[in-house]
Amino acid sequence: MKSLTLNESISFNGVGLHTGLRTNITLKPSSPNSGIFFNRTDKSTIIPAKWDNVISTKFSTNIASNGVEVKTVEHLLSALAGLHINNCEILIDNIEVPILDGSSSVFVENILKKGLKEQNSEQKILEIIKPVKFSCDYGYAELTPNSLKDEGLNINLESSFEGKYEDQDIKIMNLNGNYIESISKARTFGFFQEIEYLKSQNLIKGGSLDNAIVIKDKKPLNKDGLRYDNELMRHKVLDVVGDLYLSGYPIIGNYKGFKTGHYITINLLKKLFNSKDNYKIHKIN
Ligand SMILES: [Zn+2]
Repeated sequence: MKSLTLNESISFNGVGLHTGLRTNITLKPSSPNSGIFFNRTDKSTIIPAKWDNVISTKFSTNIASNGVEVKTVEHLLSALAGLHINNCEILIDNIEVPILDGSSSVFVENILKKGLKEQNSEQKILEIIKPVKFSCDYGYAELTPNSLKDEGLNINLESSFEGKYEDQDIKIMNLNGNYIESISKARTFGFFQEIEYLKSQNLIKGGSLDNAIVIKDKKPLNKDGLRYDNELMRHKVLDVVGDLYLSGYPIIGNYKGFKTGHYITINLLKKLFNSKDNYKIHKIN
């Protein structure tokens, strides 16, 4: 598969979910082999979108380089991964990526309107060779080889919402081709009884029913309800796709997890890159 970048630059602006700060971002075409990277224009600092630049994972995935941070990168990275864009410069003039409608569909739809550009180099993919697992006291995730290579990435998640919502699971076979319709529209979510706690932690200052599902008594407070019955689980898949793209590559493998979140997926990537025996990086046709 050929490398892909954008046809032309696209700008977005909006508030960050956690900081509430208004931010402008511009996605710019970039050269083959440049990868996905942020350019904090207000700080003249480049921050590659890589797992080893992650500095925190509390309610969002946050990366930094030379002490300059970009918060909540996961939904934008998910959009780029879902569209197979592997070279893109992201100009950003403040600390947090705008949350927009809480999903990745605003990015996806606007990028598709302008179109993608094939580049004169082959994309490299990361194939899982050996199973890798990360567990913590409440959940786990694992990556295992996928012998059906044309399926790319399969995702299988189970969650327990501890009485706050019905427990659900989701199986996405062959994410390639399923992302735009099945995943990109799923919004981020929170539970009504946790809002005060999150605010006390200086989080969700930009959160509202326009950019997040809020669940109270097992039902959404949003007046139009949910976009899918299992929108929460689909959003968890969206987050996994974004976080996994911090590997720097599309992945061929199976991702299975219970109660996954940014902390679990980023730690799983750290374990994956602990040993070169765990994976193989190569070109695909
Ligand atoms: Zn999310």
